[in-house]
Amino acid sequence: MGILYLVPTPIGNLEDITLRALRVLREVKLIAAEDTRTSRVLLQHFEITTPLTSYHEHNKLAKLDAIFAALESGDVALVSDAGTPGISDPGYELIREAIARGVTVTPLPGANAALTALIGSGLNTETFLFAGFPPRKPKQRRELFERLAHVPRTLIFYESPNRLTDMLADIDAVLADRPVVVARELTKIYEEFRRGTAAELLAHFTATPPRGEIVVLIDGAPPETPVIWGEDAVNDALRERLEAGESLRDAAKAIASESGWDRKAVYETGLKLKRS
Ligand code: SAM
Repeated sequence: MGILYLVPTPIGNLEDITLRALRVLREVKLIAAEDTRTSRVLLQHFEITTPLTSYHEHNKLAKLDAIFAALESGDVALVSDAGTPGISDPGYELIREAIARGVTVTPLPGANAALTALIGSGLNTETFLFAGFPPRKPKQRRELFERLAHVPRTLIFYESPNRLTDMLADIDAVLADRPVVVARELTKIYEEFRRGTAAELLAHFTATPPRGEIVVLIDGAPPETPVIWGEDAVNDALRERLEAGESLRDAAKAIASESGWDRKAVYETGLKLKRS
């Protein structure tokens, strides 16, 4: 049984392909490509003559058998139109089925629009959430932003230039003043990072309709800082509960859960209060 290689290809600049990717594309028996015409241009550029077969959104399930038949007698490389196969591109079903059938899956690292945009955005790279393309319907899109509003991670979306202003309007409505970055035409001549609030970016892209390929990044929610009560607040709460007849033990337990104090400290404060 051959190996299924997952081979990233450039997202614009043809120099962004690795030496290993070129060697694998040359050496495999077959390349399964999202669009054979797009991949043929890339392969011709690098003088690679490996046979191509199509594997795209609409034939991906029907194509599985043909790809596994090819794997019986040699290695196969999966490529998408641009970037990393399987990331908002076909690949997932094939990869899953290959693993289920015991085929060795070898992923190659390489170009990807989301990570390229993230590292250039200036937003927090420590933790992030890649959410793919947002829903096209405004209601569903807003609901998604509402669900993500409390996530303390940089949010990354792909979006088409035609829907960018609608998306920015919804970000403005739901997430208001969050820093937003629009990364456009990455690795290409007109590469652009535009930073601001959603309202500022909306004004810009309404005046200058965007072209090309776009990643939208939104700063994560600020981490929730736990509120820790001061001593007066703990004393007041203790007084109220003790006067209502609660035992010090129960009062300390309840107040500890609300105040950010540990139970023993509340208990000792209660003892002092009782003595005074
Ligand atoms: N598999 C690809 C990857 O690894 O990035 C993504 C494929 S997805 C179908 C295409 C989307 O990726 C575009 O609509 C755009 O949102 C984003 N994208 C791809 N190339 C880009 C580029 N050069 N600049 C900005 N965004 C890009």
